[in-house]
Amino acid sequence: MEKTDVKNLTLEGLEQYIAGIGKERFRAKQIFKWLYQMDATSFDEMTNVSKEFRAFLAEKAAISNLVPEVVEAAEDGTKKYLFRLADGNAVESVLIPDEGRNTLCISSQVGCAMGCAFCLTGTFGVTRNLTTAEIVNQVCAVKREEPVRNIVFMGMGEPLANLAAVIPAVKILTDPDGFQFSNRKVTVSTCGLVPEMAELGHACIVNLAVSLNATTDEIRSLIMPIDRRYPLKELLAACKAFPLPSRRWITVEYVMIRDLNDSLEDAKRLVKLISNFPSKVNLIPFNEHEGASFRTPSQESIDRFHKYLLDKHVTVITRSSRGGEISAACGQLKGRLDEKLKEQ
Ligand code: SAH
Ligand code: SF4
Repeated sequence: MEKTDVKNLTLEGLEQYIAGIGKERFRAKQIFKWLYQMDATSFDEMTNVSKEFRAFLAEKAAISNLVPEVVEAAEDGTKKYLFRLADGNAVESVLIPDEGRNTLCISSQVGCAMGCAFCLTGTFGVTRNLTTAEIVNQVCAVKREEPVRNIVFMGMGEPLANLAAVIPAVKILTDPDGFQFSNRKVTVSTCGLVPEMAELGHACIVNLAVSLNATTDEIRSLIMPIDRRYPLKELLAACKAFPLPSRRWITVEYVMIRDLNDSLEDAKRLVKLISNFPSKVNLIPFNEHEGASFRTPSQESIDRFHKYLLDKHVTVITRSSRGGEISAACGQLKGRLDEKLKEQ
């Protein structure tokens, strides 16, 4: 019989599992803390758990782990980690440093099925969903090397296409007996899967980022096929309905592409579109890559767009393309490190 990987289980799941093998539920909390607060990689390390129970667990259960196969650092301090999964597939995580407030960008799928025209990850479709363990193990591995303050699900994949693994992962990340990230520090980003947005909002408290990227369905459906299934009107209604704790907002991501969505008219439409719910806008100048013919906008049009939003009292930041030299920026991941390895 295959062993149960305890890294796939939320605290509640672990309690049920332990009750199911005929032991006391309270032991789950001890084990959970060992996994995420002490980074235990074997039951043997869990010294406050009886020897007998440790041996019992080791027979029935397993603790999976990920070790980066390659770590590539850019000059600005951004670090890209390549993780080899048990079946040979690979995913990447990116650590974006910021004095004491490092953000870790994690993956939720191998590839992505959403096919956005500007995105490198989307070019090859999806190979498979990650498990909860594979998601949380990216965090365990990077935390061994660097402090991590924020987690964003903005690496490879569409997290809302893998809710069955992403919801438990968010719960483990934000559990006071688990990783102990405040739910303010964890953000799930979506291209706009409307029913799943509601599902996520009801299942856990987490920040939501929505990749809007255009202000008309005409342009949006051109670059994001999902828009044909869930057009702007439905997407914005889902944003408005998303259960936000008080004084929270939805992050609206807007990848700016030269001559496509970077005009002042776009800025004007954007302000109107997001007026119905609390938001902060992240402007992301398109990161050029060999997979797409789009171009980054001129600095002038980025500034003009940014200033218009500010003048309309929209909270906006323009994201710098961190880690440009190693294509580490979020949305730029497709296993390039992996390809490089194979060439060697
Ligand atoms: N699938 C999710 C999360 C991963 S993509 C989503 O789409 O939201 C993370 C972010 O990277 C998205 O906002 C996406 O629009 C952006 N992105 C993708 N390709 C990019 C590129 N070439 N340049 C800049 N941002 C890009
Ligand atoms: Fe997938 Fe997000 Fe890339 Fe679109 S932008 S293809 S949803 S990873």
